[in-house]
Amino acid sequence: MGSTSRLSQRTTEKETTMSHRADEEIFQNAIGRLDNAAEFSSIGPEALERLRYPKSMLQVSIPLRMDDGSLRVFQGYRVRHDDTRGPTKGGIRFHPDVHLGEVKALAFWMTCKCAVAGIPFGGGKGGIIVNPKELSRLELERLSRGFIQRVADFIGPETDIPAPDVYTNAMIMGWMMDEYSNIQRRRTPTVITGKPIPLGGSLGRDDATGRGAYYCIKELERLKAWSPPEVRVAVQGFGNAGQHVARLMHADGYRIVAISDSRGGIFRDEGLDIPRAIELKQQRQDLSEVYASRSVCDCPECGCVECHCQPDDAGSGKIITNEELLELDVDILIPAALENQLTAENAERVMAPVIVEVANGPTTTEADAIFNAKETLIVPDILANAGGVTVSYFEWTQNRAGYYWTVEEVHQRLSQIMKREFKLIYELMVTNQIDMRTAAYAHALNRIGEAIESQGTST
Ligand code: GLU
Repeated sequence: MGSTSRLSQRTTEKETTMSHRADEEIFQNAIGRLDNAAEFSSIGPEALERLRYPKSMLQVSIPLRMDDGSLRVFQGYRVRHDDTRGPTKGGIRFHPDVHLGEVKALAFWMTCKCAVAGIPFGGGKGGIIVNPKELSRLELERLSRGFIQRVADFIGPETDIPAPDVYTNAMIMGWMMDEYSNIQRRRTPTVITGKPIPLGGSLGRDDATGRGAYYCIKELERLKAWSPPEVRVAVQGFGNAGQHVARLMHADGYRIVAISDSRGGIFRDEGLDIPRAIELKQQRQDLSEVYASRSVCDCPECGCVECHCQPDDAGSGKIITNEELLELDVDILIPAALENQLTAENAERVMAPVIVEVANGPTTTEADAIFNAKETLIVPDILANAGGVTVSYFEWTQNRAGYYWTVEEVHQRLSQIMKREFKLIYELMVTNQIDMRTAAYAHALNRIGEAIESQGTST
């Protein structure tokens, strides 16, 4: 307990000041996109000014009793950015690199994303600084419950509604909902979305983020008269969102030539067998394993011994790095991992003429300028990955009504929203001769501005 090595991990005062600066930078970068878009929107200056600041923020310490009896204390955050259009909504991520500035930026993006989707929510986000892969399943459950104990007064079905994000899943949402219900002494499924189906989760929530992006791609296919087998695709990130968008596109005949995860990627010119890669990725050594221990690099098409490849295709693929994947000669690039992957450093070398942002914030502002000069079409995150929160909204309404929809109904309503908003944003882009991100922000700002201005002038 309290070993010196752990104590030495504490940040010094100097490091804290530096990290505070970096913290602010990511948030300032995120809201920097407002000014550009406001020009093409009806939002007034006062409403715009309000969006530059999160409504409220909470930092908590979560002591966790480890399985070996020792104690570790984790830091967690929950940020509510803006709730003018409805309760704040957004995921909770478990990741070692979580920091307050990132959570603020992610909460801001949620405000814009919910407005883009036209669903009655504002934006929020949360996170814990942790490498969840180092925790046992029981430690993970205690950490998840500990977080809810500390944020219980900050969240709620009408105030702030969490959901899954990077390295959190339905099982974790189930524990969190149960903990919140215990605290309230009343079963409260509406406090969180992305729950397991038997606890009130919605059918179709599991693949909703990938599916929403897929519906955007179907719109592009129509507009550009693409023939899927001739379209080469690279997907960075093979978590929930990346797997589903790859699966749906593969089923339509798209040639997915590269996929990757945190350990690296694989490339195969003839296209990869995506269902087989998903099957491999989802294999668990035993039931207590929460996170996949296998990587796409241990993969089928590389000719490894475990993969049961056909002798003739064994070895025809090759291992690549995440950086190499981004620069492949493909028709569509789908970043589906973390922020800041496409930067001033690599944007010039990115060859894909179309980028569909399934991750939140994968492109930096500097990279945007380079892509705009190259006329790369970027379907921005606040549209492309809005499918997840849209089906979260469906889950919340089903919980409130106590009446559950079929998966077909979920798909049909999701498709309607995604296609409707895609068209509106595309039109705004064409009419104003602006890039699609600016158009998406302008579209969001119209809706947010109208809501803020409808509230009157008192502050
Ligand atoms: N974490 C997801 C996102 O970034 C989903 C949020 C939600 O369902 O509330 O959009």
